[in-house]
Amino acid sequence: LDILPRQRAWVEVDLEALAHNVRQIRGLLAAQTDLLAVVKADAYGHGSIGVAQTALQAGATWLGVATVMEGIELRRAGINAPILLLGSVHTPAEIQAIAQWQIQPTLCSPKQALIFSETLSSGDRALSVHLKLDTGMARLGAPWTEAVEFVQWVQRLPHLTVASVYSHFATADEVDQTLLWQQKHCFDQAIAALRAQGICPPCLHLANSAATLLDSHLHYDMVRVGLALYGLYPAPHFRDNPDRSLDLRPVLQVKARVTQVKTIQAGMGVSYGHRFIARQETRVATVGIGYADGVPRLLSNQMQVLVRGQAVPQIGSVTMDQLMLDVSGLDLVEPGEVVTLLGQSGNIRLGAEDWAMAIGTISWEILCGFKHRLPRVAV
Ligand code: PLP
Repeated sequence: LDILPRQRAWVEVDLEALAHNVRQIRGLLAAQTDLLAVVKADAYGHGSIGVAQTALQAGATWLGVATVMEGIELRRAGINAPILLLGSVHTPAEIQAIAQWQIQPTLCSPKQALIFSETLSSGDRALSVHLKLDTGMARLGAPWTEAVEFVQWVQRLPHLTVASVYSHFATADEVDQTLLWQQKHCFDQAIAALRAQGICPPCLHLANSAATLLDSHLHYDMVRVGLALYGLYPAPHFRDNPDRSLDLRPVLQVKARVTQVKTIQAGMGVSYGHRFIARQETRVATVGIGYADGVPRLLSNQMQVLVRGQAVPQIGSVTMDQLMLDVSGLDLVEPGEVVTLLGQSGNIRLGAEDWAMAIGTISWEILCGFKHRLPRVAV
């Protein structure tokens, strides 16, 4: 459908920056440690196929998705790398699709493992499964204290092979690391119990981006990295602390074009609700991007965008497909002028983390918010 890229509004994806980030992260890892590139949610809005192919070429060895369809999309694109399904599924249709497309599921309880085993038929190849332990996130996984019973149970079931045991951190990006180390301690106790029984699987993994950047003791046999691949730090203290910082480069830029320019008089209002009133004569540029593209409406009257390397205030409510700028401070702006909403122009960079901070959310949500109607353009 991308027959009109770079027309109204678009996302630019710098796959060279992505490859650079993968190499940077690989540089933190021991040679035998696997890097799983988390490409769920259309690779955090960057386009999953291009990202997956580039990440694999640059040193990632596994891919992580959240849904069965996300995995199938990668397989249909000809990607053969092992795919871990991070989400949890139960229905026969999903289980059969997983087996057919060789996607490796996460199992979170003995009951779910039984459903998988009963749904698969003897004609199927044994399915590699990954057992999830809950060490403190209280989302998915069996209690870590029941690791031995869980692994023994699955090992006895036909059609299933335990490929890994893993868990997930709840607070790895927070300044306070107390819970992080508690979770690691629980995970280590579960592993010790498995080893004592001689039933520990060959692969153990625990770390997301934050934990991967924090400490190599959290790496185990594989790390599951999302945000850092896309060039963002999980929190400011990762970027600002020189001991922890890597050279990560943002991969995504969001751009749109001016569609109309007009002059309004002092006292006139702009956009729905007139939440901006001009104090003096003001030149208003309308831009063809809005909240239906992924620009949060909560940013109305609070964001700046870049035009020719200069920061320009956005004014009035962000509307579904359009937003307005005060371009009084710029020389002639004409329809067609390119506006950078996220990314670099001149010496200024606007990041997803800046938007997130302004509206009290996280960079992950901003990135995933860019909708399919924005063409992804590789640069
Ligand atoms: N592992 C699991 C189980 C996840 O759900 C996620 C993302 O939410 C990740 C790893 C990657 O996290 P991050 O983007 O913080 O690296």
